[in-house]
Amino acid sequence: MRILIAEDDPAIVSFLVKGLRAEGYATAVAATGAEAHQLLSSSLESFDLVLLDLGLPAMTGVEVLTQLRQRDAALPVIVLTARAEVSDKVRGLELGANDYVTKPFSFAELLARIRATLRSTSQPTTNELVVGDLRLDLFTKVAWRGERRIDLAPREWALLELFMRHPTHVLSRTRILNEVWEYGFDPGNNIVDVYVSYLRKKINFDDTTPLILTVRGAGYRLVAH
Ligand code: CA
Repeated sequence: MRILIAEDDPAIVSFLVKGLRAEGYATAVAATGAEAHQLLSSSLESFDLVLLDLGLPAMTGVEVLTQLRQRDAALPVIVLTARAEVSDKVRGLELGANDYVTKPFSFAELLARIRATLRSTSQPTTNELVVGDLRLDLFTKVAWRGERRIDLAPREWALLELFMRHPTHVLSRTRILNEVWEYGFDPGNNIVDVYVSYLRKKINFDDTTPLILTVRGAGYRLVAH
């Protein structure tokens, strides 16, 4: 799951990025409305939800939302607004926001709104990803291999979810890094390989077939049995 944060207040951005990453969401940040509009125009499909501040420079949140809804009616948007006026909230909802949160808000409150919004906008069939004998419950973030329950750390299930959304595809290290960590994140080490090895240890058992194959020079591939 990747969330676009369109917010110009650096303190709020850092609070959101930190909190969302700890919950296993990948994030991208736009500090102006124009930037948010540009990201949503060029890579709309790479986002699962948008947190949209209404008071943005260069292009207001309302304009970003209006433009977005002309192209995509489905991408969930939660409006963040410092304005307590009912009219702004109503306007946002009329324009197609799924929910709104008034600043200041607690992270727990926002997280609950995000989860509720994702739940109400996702198809029932997407609550669970199944590849071969591997199942991932997207809400409880618990994986099952056959009858065995596998508890995953946030980054591990973000990685497993990515593999399970693209079974049999070869995923390059760069793509994994961009989707599971964040744009432009340079860990300066082999963090992808380290996390793939953590994940393999959790999903492979002595009596089961290995599921994540290394494709030399290209990346990794989840095989479906
Ligand atoms: Ca603002």
